[in-house]
Amino acid sequence: MMKPRIFVTRPVPSGVLDLLAAHGDLHFRAEDTPIALPEMAEACREAEGVLVCGAHLPREVLQQAPRLRAVSNVGVGYDNIDVPACTERHIPVTNTSGALEETTAELALALLVAAARRVVEGDRYVREGRWRQWEWKLLWGADVHHRTLGIYGFGRIGQTLARYGRGLSMSILYHSRRRVAESIERELEARYVDREILLRESDFLSLHVPLTPETHHLIKAEDLSLMKPTAFLINTARGKVVDEDALVTALRAGKIAGAGLDVFEHEPQVNPALLSMPHVVLMPHVGSATASTRFNMAKLGAENLLALLEGRRPANVVNPEVYD
Ligand code: NAP
Repeated sequence: MMKPRIFVTRPVPSGVLDLLAAHGDLHFRAEDTPIALPEMAEACREAEGVLVCGAHLPREVLQQAPRLRAVSNVGVGYDNIDVPACTERHIPVTNTSGALEETTAELALALLVAAARRVVEGDRYVREGRWRQWEWKLLWGADVHHRTLGIYGFGRIGQTLARYGRGLSMSILYHSRRRVAESIERELEARYVDREILLRESDFLSLHVPLTPETHHLIKAEDLSLMKPTAFLINTARGKVVDEDALVTALRAGKIAGAGLDVFEHEPQVNPALLSMPHVVLMPHVGSATASTRFNMAKLGAENLLALLEGRRPANVVNPEVYD
């Protein structure tokens, strides 16, 4: 039997490529850079399965890929893929939910603590040779422990962060479209509140919603103005969830105390105003970037792809309607 043709958009670890090569006619892109759309279209033209890693799969590419029948995204967020266009063609799409929640929640916690305790500012202060003596008032930050952690989007990453927050004796508030089971609320000591209370009462507001038409600019000027002037905004979800110009204005005006950002509205471009703000901690979209998590994501993505190509249904299909 002919092996299905597979295209992989990035050089994922060799062990994962070996797995795909054992079951498919493997083609992969060797450069760790974003693939341009014409090249993506050309590479997908004959493909039956594609492992999408840090790439876009829009409708125009799908239209040029008549044999495509399986799409596996390496990552939880799948706003890079035109899922409705896949669904129209009954192409199942999977993500790697389950492989990266703790690692991403760790980065949210790192940004939170770094922003509150001015870790990056302190590092610069030492490196630049400005540290001359111990000073009573040097680099005072904000406490994290016993403060209120507000979590917007209470899925896997949000709940994991809640667990970490409890480890710091924080009070946990959350808002999501739906309330989670009472047993989860009890276990995490998390209280469901409406979005306005979440914005008003959080000392740290951390975003964990997917990017969808509904969540685009979920946080705008009026939302930021409800927050405490001492509060911090943490975003490891997607840049477009926040109106970045409004965030810059709020930070400049002292409407909030600071921010920790892993994602940006027009990444990799960062609003130049953010670059000069000492009370903002910036990271280059590396929420899931540890060796073991990246390996596990790629492996799960490959396993999902092979399952789909073999007609099996993996756990994390994001458009289950294709099976109706
Ligand atoms: P998840 O388990 O699907 O959780 C998402 C949560 O958001 C769900 O509880 C969902 O609630 C809620 N939600 C969806 N739309 C909402 C809305 N309009 N208003 C309020 N809540 C809403 O996903 P996850 O694994 O926690 O990941 C969350 C996001 O993080 C991903 O989509 C991805 O974009 C991002 N991410 C970023 C990185 C990084 O490198 N920085 C790494 C991993 C993930 P329902 O139950 O109502 O749907």
